[in-house]
Amino acid sequence: MPDRSPELSTPRGRLVVLVGPSAVGKSTVVNAVRERLPELFFSVSATTRDPRPGETDGRDYHFVTRDRFDAMIADGELLEWAEIHGGLQRSGTPAAPVLAALDSGVPVLIEVDIQGAQNLVERLPEAQTVFLAPPTWEELVARLTGRGTETDEVVARRLETARAEMELAHTFDHTLVNSEVDSTADRLVSLLVGRP
Ligand code: 5GP
Repeated sequence: MPDRSPELSTPRGRLVVLVGPSAVGKSTVVNAVRERLPELFFSVSATTRDPRPGETDGRDYHFVTRDRFDAMIADGELLEWAEIHGGLQRSGTPAAPVLAALDSGVPVLIEVDIQGAQNLVERLPEAQTVFLAPPTWEELVARLTGRGTETDEVVARRLETARAEMELAHTFDHTLVNSEVDSTADRLVSLLVGRP
């Protein structure tokens, strides 16, 4: 006899993994999704990079030292992690909060780079992967250059990463062109909690 009848067990939360080039508007879209879906669990990554102006520890990222990051890897605390922008920084997804949310039926949104998405799908095959694309390449270049918070070298590296990521967009379950924040956020909400 099973311990619990299927009707009494909590359905697992849905997991959406969002990938998109730097400056495509991911944080704006994520904020819009969080406003629409207060019960959502949004995974806060650990990273070795420095905070940008306006970023808060614990809300945007857990900003940690390289040593602390390595200890998290060694202790199996990360679901996945990756070297970002040619090894300038490492970022990873803390495992425990994501698994707890999914088990208790809460929808989960994780924003990672492309390697992270591939690794997450291996760990959690139910994940739905979403690629957020800019309306045009020119618009992405303009947004990335116009942000003015990074050096030319960092911008060039990000464009290189973006080009490689865009070539792999077709490997995702869904591609959303981020022409308009509200409709992109609505699509994500329906993947997270809408009718299957
Ligand atoms: P940024 O430093 O601009 O916030 O993010 C740079 C890149 O790191 C983005 O592509 C972002 O998706 C990725 N990233 C952020 N957190 C994680 C994470 O936990 N794991 C992986 N694999 N990539 C991440």
